[in-house]
Amino acid sequence: MPKTKPLASISLDLDNQWSYMKIHGDEGWDKYPSYFDIFVPYILDLLDEIDLKITFFIVGKDTESEENRRYLKMITQRGHEVGNHSYHHESWLQSYSYDKVREEIVIAEKAIENATGQKPCGFRGPGFSWSKDLIKVLESRGYLYDASTLPTYLGPLARMYYFKKSDLSKEEKKARKELFGKFSEGFRKLKPYYWDLGENKRIVEIPVTTMPVFKLPFHLSYLIYLSNISMGLMNVYLSFALLMCKLTKTPVSFLLHPLDVIGGDQIEQLSFFPGMNVSSDKKAKVFKVVMRRLGKSFALSNMSDYLSHEIKKPNIPMQKL
Ligand SMILES: [Zn+2]
Repeated sequence: MPKTKPLASISLDLDNQWSYMKIHGDEGWDKYPSYFDIFVPYILDLLDEIDLKITFFIVGKDTESEENRRYLKMITQRGHEVGNHSYHHESWLQSYSYDKVREEIVIAEKAIENATGQKPCGFRGPGFSWSKDLIKVLESRGYLYDASTLPTYLGPLARMYYFKKSDLSKEEKKARKELFGKFSEGFRKLKPYYWDLGENKRIVEIPVTTMPVFKLPFHLSYLIYLSNISMGLMNVYLSFALLMCKLTKTPVSFLLHPLDVIGGDQIEQLSFFPGMNVSSDKKAKVFKVVMRRLGKSFALSNMSDYLSHEIKKPNIPMQKL
């Protein structure tokens, strides 16, 4: 019998122009400027080119404009899956009360279903924010998985870098004090597991995969950063990360962001953002190289197919919430 490849899931957090501006503290974000007209057709064509269907995590607020809804609809029409990426994209979601988190999930879920015709069955928190209340809400709403954790020790470092590059006031920094997570996030599991909520209630956690043992991130933003130094360096880093996954039998959940595949040449308003000096062509090239490399070791899929494959495995660990 031919040996089948393990599955790797590919997902994209569909952060819009305003959410980058909001997290960065830029004026004008509250007018909700959108780049969907440029980005969505671009990424859909790019995915078609490599014949790949993925999961798009969508922010509820983006469904409010009719123009945006046109582009969101294209995502499901072209065969991709949608997930819930909160309504307001606030990376301090972990400070919300249970009721507030519940409202945030429910209104986003309804808005996304209305706009795309598909009900999300998974959630990813903005800026990797999550809380126990969030997990409880997801379970009570019948979600199949949460995908908000990023097990890395580098969260505080990434945050420091981000604050340095931003125009955030002291208060805004305080609200974002857990952006990208605490150091202790690094101790979390890398392989999918169940959150045990007691009374026979449970929900799967699918962490964004980082390099086993070292817990260094290797989602596309990091690879783009490395490729800017040298393509050779990026290839070595990615191959090493994948080798570590293979040796430790860690399945891969791989994360993309819009600015990983599109440059300041197309999204001029964000051209001052880190990494936006790299052209869209170069980013598209790196994206294809990375997907080809991943595809050599894994069968690439959306989150749902990956989940149904993973939960068939015996002895999935349980973790008390
Ligand atoms: Zn996001």
